Amino acid sequence: MKRGSYRAKAVVLGSIDFGESDRILTFYTLEQGKITGIAKGARRSKKRFVGNLDPLTHINIGYFHSDKSELVRVEDASIIDAFSSLKTDIERLSDACYLLELTSELTREGQVLPAAYHSLVAFLKLLEAGAGPEALRFFEVKLLEQSGYLPHLTGCLSCRATFDRERLYFSSAKGGLVCRACSSGITGLIPVSPGTAALLSMAARLEPDKLGRLKPSPAFLDESERLLYDFIKFQLGKELKTRRFMAKLKNAQA
Ligand SMILES: [Zn+2]
Repeated sequence: MKRGSYRAKAVVLGSIDFGESDRILTFYTLEQGKITGIAKGARRSKKRFVGNLDPLTHINIGYFHSDKSELVRVEDASIIDAFSSLKTDIERLSDACYLLELTSELTREGQVLPAAYHSLVAFLKLLEAGAGPEALRFFEVKLLEQSGYLPHLTGCLSCRATFDRERLYFSSAKGGLVCRACSSGITGLIPVSPGTAALLSMAARLEPDKLGRLKPSPAFLDESERLLYDFIKFQLGKELKTRRFMAKLKNAQA
């Protein structure tokens, strides 16, 4: 990024208070990908920033990048969409925060992915419209595709055999599907049906509005959740905080 002032559309991914009155925030922009910045006096100057820099807010943001700092200096922000209805329901809020955390973790600064920005905004809107867990699975597979992490989902990655009705196995360590014949000796395999593999592969290429209309089977939801959870954890080398929270929430309701 060159020295200078910029304007962008962005979704605030996260923020932490810094010092007496400042706030450091990470936001995903359409124009420049993921950016970290400091908003000086954000907690003092109610007029300039009130609510505009909260995580899970879609904003127009102005910021200045100098050559001296890794952080941009946030100058102003105005709200496009506060996603208010997501913030009043703990389950939907945790789903939405998961999308934010996953975006933050799977992307890096300097990598500009307009599709990831559009997909994040579209899926947050789908959650607002009441989309179920399938929206999380489709978001995961799309973001993996956009950020270059998509596993091999078409045919056996070892012998290249294509699948018909045969039971398949997914290996996070190998980065994709293997057939039964090629699966011996590989540990940590997750069984997957050909239907789930085909739908995931298709979902990686479909636009969010088309995905929002699909109503996949309970078997797909179970299998894809297990597979993607395992794969993302393997890629990141850790479990996401929001996933741990979602699991607690689920247990508390059971
Ligand atoms: Zn094979």
